Amino acid sequence: MTQPALDFVIAALERIRQKDSRAPRASRTALALLQAVPAATAAPIVLRAAYTTSVDAVESAVPSGDPGAPDKADLLAAVRERVGACTKCAHLACSRTQTVFGVGNPDADLMFIGEAPGADEDREGEPFVGRAGQLLTRILKAMNFAREDVYIANILKCRPDMPAGSFGNRPPTPTEMQTCRPYLMEQIEIIQPSVLVALGAVAVEGLLGTRGTMRELRGRWHTYNSIPLMITYHPAYLLRNQAPSEKRKVWEDMLQVLERLEQPISDRQRNYFL
Ligand code: SF4
Repeated sequence: MTQPALDFVIAALERIRQKDSRAPRASRTALALLQAVPAATAAPIVLRAAYTTSVDAVESAVPSGDPGAPDKADLLAAVRERVGACTKCAHLACSRTQTVFGVGNPDADLMFIGEAPGADEDREGEPFVGRAGQLLTRILKAMNFAREDVYIANILKCRPDMPAGSFGNRPPTPTEMQTCRPYLMEQIEIIQPSVLVALGAVAVEGLLGTRGTMRELRGRWHTYNSIPLMITYHPAYLLRNQAPSEKRKVWEDMLQVLERLEQPISDRQRNYFL
């Protein structure tokens, strides 16, 4: 942004601060978007952004097809960098091998949300790479998607720590999820998927802040910030319970997702696990 434009914006924000009881504010994502907007259009956008924490107002103010429109991959990279240095949960920052940010297409229509990295993900730095992750990849393939087509992230970006000498993984605590949740919110805000899928009750609790049984929650549409949200079982549940009836439940949820995305569905796909 040029200096005259910046001066104009600062003066306008100052006037807002003096006149209005609501302090001007903008999310980090909105500010990152503004930095990438050409100077000629930046000032009015800043004024609008001053009253919102949503990226929507900023995006709607940027003319579509604007060559200066920011790249979602760049915006995600900026969040990834902050996550990589995050020590908000001191105990997890000490115990993690690395943070596990997310993987996939920044322009994805479909985004999957799990709970937290396990030992495999902590080692690899990528979500859903263990046995449960391999099953998720197979489910995606059955939907005619590759991992690269969708975006996959967890509520928690660090592996929940385990007592020394013990094996396995533990679910994240409500406090840990609440602490890390803003990063996921930023990821969703940047990607703006058409459909979200939450995998398991812990992911639902982290995302919506509500507890419930999967029996109550799965198989029907919910919303998160106006984005359609499907809730289904975590793939790890299907590894523990291999009954075709349970696999069919997850598959029926994915068929609903495909319908919502207006993807073609073959008869073969409709008949899986029947
Ligand atoms: S879990 Fe999230 S909030 Fe906690 S230290 Fe890791 S990145 Fe930071």
